[in-house]
Amino acid sequence: MKNDKEKLMIALKPCPTCEKGSLLPVNDIISEFSGYVFIEKGERCNECGEEFPYQEETQKTIQAARKLAVWPETLKLHRKLSKSGRGIVFRIPSDIEKQLNLDGSEEVDVSLLGNKIILKIH
Ligand SMILES: [Zn+2]
Repeated sequence: MKNDKEKLMIALKPCPTCEKGSLLPVNDIISEFSGYVFIEKGERCNECGEEFPYQEETQKTIQAARKLAVWPETLKLHRKLSKSGRGIVFRIPSDIEKQLNLDGSEEVDVSLLGNKIILKIH
């Protein structure tokens, strides 16, 4: 009986994204890196469709992607911020600039995800 109760609790885990749906276990979360497709197990919200791969599955994908040399290691560059007159400046590393073919005229969306700053380039 105890097991049934635990299963029920897992099935009713609320979605942290929309706070309306429940997270249900799935085995078909698809990640893609440089044209390679990886399938992961995890949970998906039955309301908004947000997917949460299990951490160990994500690690497996990262390792597989590293073996295939498609994991973007260059995105882990260490850089220092600098100050300008009106605020703090982050210079895009030239590796990333080249990889994304940036010319400096792009517009970006900036969002904060935990302690990470995400730049989405248009
Ligand atoms: Zn949701």
